[in-house]
This record gives sequence, structure tokens and C-alpha cells, in this order.
Amino acid sequence: MGDGYNLQQLKAHILPLSNAGSWDVAVKEWSLVGIHEADEPEACPCGHFPIIEMCSIHNRVTGHSTEVGNICVKRFLGLRSDLIFTAIKRIRKDPDKSLNADAIAFFHERRVLNEWEYNFCQNTMRLRSLTSAQLGKRRDINRKVLAAIEKRGFQGPQ
Ligand SMILES: [Zn+2]
Repeated sequence: MGDGYNLQQLKAHILPLSNAGSWDVAVKEWSLVGIHEADEPEACPCGHFPIIEMCSIHNRVTGHSTEVGNICVKRFLGLRSDLIFTAIKRIRKDPDKSLNADAIAFFHERRVLNEWEYNFCQNTMRLRSLTSAQLGKRRDINRKVLAAIEKRGFQGPQ
């Protein structure tokens, strides 16, 4: 492909951490458990550098975890980490905007959002005009999410 995302090199990193020997099956063992934006550019196990949008992935069978760049997580593992980064970019640009469905589910699962916030996000996601109290709550939630992904190694519970 010549764009610096090397599937063979990624396989060499992921397969030894997986139970399945076949790549197509091995990728199904992995879940997205964390995302963060690196302060300093990092390298993806595929060899691509620089990467800012990093994902933590966890193998549900072997219990191993590793970090892979957002592009490879989507392209080679088929996990939609890109949709969560899209939401992050949107709320950073405009804190009055809502998280999207993928981000709401993800940050609730990772326990960044409590039950009340989870329900609030769902109920207000598509509302264009919010009361000032609702808007204040949305901004609080957005701040909390942005703070969570800035913490290196944020994962929440497995
Ligand atoms: Zn990569």
C-alpha cells in the first residue's frame, strides 16, 4: 500500500498476543477498551509514525492488551474507534455539541459516564435547542470526556 500502514508487521505483533492462529479469527478476539490522544507522537505496531490517536485494545481470550493506532484499529481490526475520535473532535471544536451514539455507548461502558449521564446523553443527543440547564450539563459531560482521554493509559475497567 505504501502509506506506512503495514498489515504484515501488525499481524506479527497481534497474533502472538491472540489465541487464534488465523488472522481473520484472531481479530474477533479483540475489543476496544481505551482511546487517548498522545502528547508526543507515538508509533503504531504496524510501523507507522507519527500517531496521535492511539487505541488500547484487549484480547478477551488471552487477556493481553496492547496499543494500536486509530487507523489500523479501524482498517485491520474492524473496530470503529474512528467514530469515537470524530465525536471527540466535534465536542472539542464546539462544547455545545453532543457526543454521538458510538461515543456515548463507549464512555458509558468505560464508566466515564454514569447511568444518569448515559441516559441524559441519549435523550438529548438529537435535540437542537436545550434549556440552559441541559446545555450546562452537556458541557460538563463533554469536559469530563475530554479530560478522560487526555489521561495517558485511560482504559476504565476491562
Ligand atoms: Zn498501524
